[in-house]
Amino acid sequence: MAQLYFSPILLGICLLVAIALCATALYLMAPGESGPGFWMASGWTLIGGVVMFMGFVVTRSPLLNVLGNAAQLAGEAFFLLGIFKFMRRPLPWWTLPASVGAMVIANTHYWLAHGNSDLLMGIYSSIAGLLPMQAIWLLLRERSDPETRPARLLVGASLLLYSATTLLRGTLAYLDWWHDAPYVQPYASFSYLLSYNFAIPALVLGFVGCSLMTTQRVLARSNRMAAQLKEQATRDPLTGVLNRRAFHQQLLADVIRSQRYNRPLCLAMFDLDRFKQLNDQLGHLGGDEALQHFCQLCQQQARRTDTFARFGGEEFVLLMPETDAAQARQLLDRIRQMLADQQFYHRDQSYRLQVSIGFADLATSGSPDQLLRQADLALYQAKEAGRNQVQLWSAPASVAY
Ligand code: GH3
Ligand code: MG
Ligand code: MG
Repeated sequence: MAQLYFSPILLGICLLVAIALCATALYLMAPGESGPGFWMASGWTLIGGVVMFMGFVVTRSPLLNVLGNAAQLAGEAFFLLGIFKFMRRPLPWWTLPASVGAMVIANTHYWLAHGNSDLLMGIYSSIAGLLPMQAIWLLLRERSDPETRPARLLVGASLLLYSATTLLRGTLAYLDWWHDAPYVQPYASFSYLLSYNFAIPALVLGFVGCSLMTTQRVLARSNRMAAQLKEQATRDPLTGVLNRRAFHQQLLADVIRSQRYNRPLCLAMFDLDRFKQLNDQLGHLGGDEALQHFCQLCQQQARRTDTFARFGGEEFVLLMPETDAAQARQLLDRIRQMLADQQFYHRDQSYRLQVSIGFADLATSGSPDQLLRQADLALYQAKEAGRNQVQLWSAPASVAY
């Protein structure tokens, strides 16, 4: 026991227990994620393998030796399968029976034919060192899934260190076998302790990297979901333009900025002319398509600093910061004219679209609500005056007493 306490083996086992506990926590905290289940299985199988091997060192039971080595390789194979699972690749299941089977055969032969323990250690280390190569290749080379790339590089580099150490350990064991070196107990063997001093810490780093990869993926997914929810909350699903609620926020911000810096700003309100008739003529789907065409045209004509939004039904609004009434009229009249000039098609039916536009100038109104009210009144005037025209709101002439 004293030898075990004063060797890095005990520390290695404790590190493996820490890994297994962390992998279990990851599995429980990220349900449904691909990979953590295998890593958890890997951690506990590795511990089982090391404990059985320790049992063998104390009892010299051949069965514990065979099972211990086989379980350690199985634990390693689970770790690699987890990486393939995480990367959504077909799992190389064959690595599990191939590595475990090869070890069981070599180990059983060692016991039955009184083989050389250094040769056995060399074979074990060769299998354990080569096993991660596929996963290392995949981790370092894969370019898709960029959000998990930094952590993937960490896992790849850690596994590379693990493999290099294990293969070095194997080479030393083969040399001992070649030179017929005397048997040394594992806790006093330079080559055996290589794995406890360097390979297990590399494996710990690999597990840390796996936790980071999983966390990055969960985070990226929740960010995408948040962006999707935000999109749904601010966009009109039919036309893809901003909805009324999002428009109000922009209106408040732009009005405050324009008033603060004494800059011009205009607000226009659009209502498609005789749209009920168009719906009757084309059907509701045709009407929907017409709304999409109209939005496309307005967005093409508006500037990047303008805000175009669907206000409801076939009513739309355009907020034009840094624009005085003369410039706004020019833009709005161009939109109106382009729309009226264009011929649209729904299936093989041709149709035309016209729009009435009312707009108001911040210079003649005091608040966002007033601006909206005035643009709406101007729109009403445009309808009253015969449709297909642009009207600027102006204060009614004062009543003389
Ligand atoms: P006006 O020239 O006076 O504006 O006549 P109008 O027929 O356009 O009258 P109004 O603006 O009151 O009618 C709006 C119509 O737009 C009624 C509704 O059926 C139609 N509409 C509203 N939203 C949608 C939509 O999302 N898709 C389709 N296809 N039609 C819609
Ligand atoms: Mg309407
Ligand atoms: Mg209308």
